[in-house]
Amino acid sequence: MRCGNHWCGVYRPDGGSYTGQSREICSGFEKEWPGEGAPSRNGGITSGGLRIDLGGAIRKFGKSRGIGLHREATFARRFLKNLIRENDIACDYALPSLFTGAITQADLSEQKRQAEFANKTPATDIQIIEKPQLSSFIGSDCYVGGVLNPEVGTIHPAKLVAGLLEAAQYHGAVVHGQTAVTGLKRTRSEFSIQTTRGTCRARNVIVATNGYTDASNPWLRRRVFPVVSRIVVTEELPSNLTASLTPDRRAMAEVRKLYCYYRPTPDGRRILLGGREPAWGHGRSTAIKHVRSGLTWIFPDLGDVKLSHSWSGNVASAVPSCL
Ligand SMILES: Cc1cc2nc3c(=O)[nH]c(=O)nc-3n(C[C@H](O)[C@H](O)[C@H](O)COP(=O)(O)OP(=O)(O)OC[C@H]3O[C@@H](n4cnc5c(N)ncnc54)[C@H](O)[C@@H]3O)c2cc1C
Repeated sequence: MRCGNHWCGVYRPDGGSYTGQSREICSGFEKEWPGEGAPSRNGGITSGGLRIDLGGAIRKFGKSRGIGLHREATFARRFLKNLIRENDIACDYALPSLFTGAITQADLSEQKRQAEFANKTPATDIQIIEKPQLSSFIGSDCYVGGVLNPEVGTIHPAKLVAGLLEAAQYHGAVVHGQTAVTGLKRTRSEFSIQTTRGTCRARNVIVATNGYTDASNPWLRRRVFPVVSRIVVTEELPSNLTASLTPDRRAMAEVRKLYCYYRPTPDGRRILLGGREPAWGHGRSTAIKHVRSGLTWIFPDLGDVKLSHSWSGNVASAVPSCL
C-alpha cells in the first residue's frame, strides 16, 4: 500500500518493478488527484542528485553508507530510464546531459573531487568543464567552470506521471484518488490503514507524502518540513537565442545553496527555470520576481523578456536535528 503520489508507485517494496510478474495487489492512496503533488509540476530534469556531497555523507553516515547513498542516486537515474523504456512511456525523454555550474573556484575544486569519485562507478563519465570551454555549454559568464553529467536526462513530468499511472494500473495496481490516509496502525503482522473512504489492511506500507506530509503521520511530520520551489517560463524566444543560451538543449543547474535549475522547453522555444521561493512574507508576484531575478542573473540578455507561465510546488526538507 502506498500513501501519497504514484511517482514511485510502480516500484515494489522488494525492489522489483511491476512488470507483469507480480500477483501482489498494490494500492495507492492520494489525497488529491493522482499526480497532484510535485511529480507533475517539476522541472523534468532527471537529476537524481543528493543535496549532501560525498564528503559530508561519509562524515555523517560512515564510509560504506555514504558511498552507498551516492551510488544509489546514480542507479535511481538508470532505473528511471529503464522503467520509461520497459513501459514505453511517451514523456519526451531525452538525454541531453546536465551541466552544473560552479560559482567559485572552491566549488569547482569540490566538483572535481566528486567527479573523480563518481567516475569509479561503472559506466560513469562525468566531465570537468574549465572556464575556456564554457561557451560551448552555456551562453553565460556567471560560472568559473562546472561538470557535465551525460547520464542526466529530461522528461515532461506530467506525461511521465500519466504514463506511470497507466503502467501501474496495467500491472494490477489500484490507485485511489481523492482518498486521504488519516491514520496508520501496526498490528502484529500487518498495518491497518484508515482513509477518508474506509479502512484497509496491508503487509507493507510506503509513505511517500514528501513535502505534503500532513498530520496523519505525526512521526514523519516532525522530521520533514515543506519548502516551496517555483518555476518560471519565458515567452517564446527567437530560436537562435535559446540555442545560444542553452546549446544542445542541455539541462542546467548550479552549485550554491539556493540554486537554480533550468532548461529549454521540449520544443526549444522557451527557457524554464526553477528556484526556491523566499521563505516567508511574500505574495505570488514577489515570489515570481525573486525567481525571475535568478534567470536574469544567469542570462542578463533575458532582462526584458516576458514570462508566460509560473507555478510552484512543495519539496520536503529534513529537519536538521533528525538527520
Ligand atoms: C516546482 C518543482 C520543481 C522540481 N523540479 C525537479 C527536477 O527538475 N528534477 C528533480 O529530480 N526533482 C524536481 N523536483 C522534486 C520532485 O518533483 C520531487 O522530489 C518528487 O515529485 C517527489 O515525489 P513523491 O511522489 O515522493 O512526492 P510528492 O510528489 O510530493 O507527492 C506527495 C503526495 O502525497 C499526497 N499526500 C499527502 N498527504 C497525504 C495523505 N494523508 N493521504 C494521501 N495522500 C497524501 C499529496 O497530495 C501529494 O500529491 C521539483 C519539485 C518541485 C515542487
